[in-house]
Amino acid sequence: YLVRAIPLNDSDGNIIKWYGTNTDIHHQKELEKQKDDFLGIASHELKTPVTSLKAYAQVVESMFKRSGDFKNADLLGRMNKQVDRLSNLINDLLDVTKINSGRLQFNETEFDFNEMVEEVIEDVQRTSFKHLIHPELSFKKKIVGDRDRICQVVTNLLTNAVKYSPDANEVVINTLDLGDRVQVSVRDYGIGISPDLKDHVFEQFYRISGDKRHTFPGLGLGLYISSEIVKRFGGKIWVDSVEGKGSTFCFSIPVNQ
Ligand code: ADP
Repeated sequence: YLVRAIPLNDSDGNIIKWYGTNTDIHHQKELEKQKDDFLGIASHELKTPVTSLKAYAQVVESMFKRSGDFKNADLLGRMNKQVDRLSNLINDLLDVTKINSGRLQFNETEFDFNEMVEEVIEDVQRTSFKHLIHPELSFKKKIVGDRDRICQVVTNLLTNAVKYSPDANEVVINTLDLGDRVQVSVRDYGIGISPDLKDHVFEQFYRISGDKRHTFPGLGLGLYISSEIVKRFGGKIWVDSVEGKGSTFCFSIPVNQ
């Protein structure tokens, strides 16, 4: 049951009565569970064929390359990219169902923080032809945490910075050593976010519909997943933004979780 109570005060502000409502939310919870179960099963079932599709497409692409047929190799390369996009969307859906059912698992290891960030930059730069990603990574520090999951957060912020700044050609990423924490900031010169929508962007399936000239693809899950990962590590994630000028997404996490 969801219990809501509203106090009724006298003229001195003393509470003289409570008005209460009792709402049965069992049905609503059941529907939410069914939705989560469906998402889990559907994304799991989609993942298997997409994984084989990727494997076949890679084989065919390298066959074309080896035989010198670069026109078809290029076509297969494009196909591979779309399969990657599909597979990222499915992974996001799977992550969300894991988060919502408390089944997201973490494998902790010790790793060099800036080395991990550099790897992400290289990856994102490889597919971002228009933007130059400027790294400002000045320290060397090992931290303990789930490397892949933290990689995922940095990748999300960096790919968003590129995606939501279609008219810009640079993105700046820097890392800070704050002693017992490390911080990452990703700055873009893109469309920005209006102040009243700023905090909503970390909600599940939340998307801003774009501006007059642009529409952006996506499911509205990347920042939700990122914020859940950061929270699980005892960290914080936030955004500073000016509409029409750009955004800076930051997160900080303890060095030793
Ligand atoms: P998606 O990009 O798939 O929509 P996200 O969870 O990554 O999902 O982002 C949620 C929303 O937050 C986006 O739809 C977009 O409106 C806004 N957003 C995220 N990153 C940026 C950014 N760098 N600049 C402007 N808006 C952003």
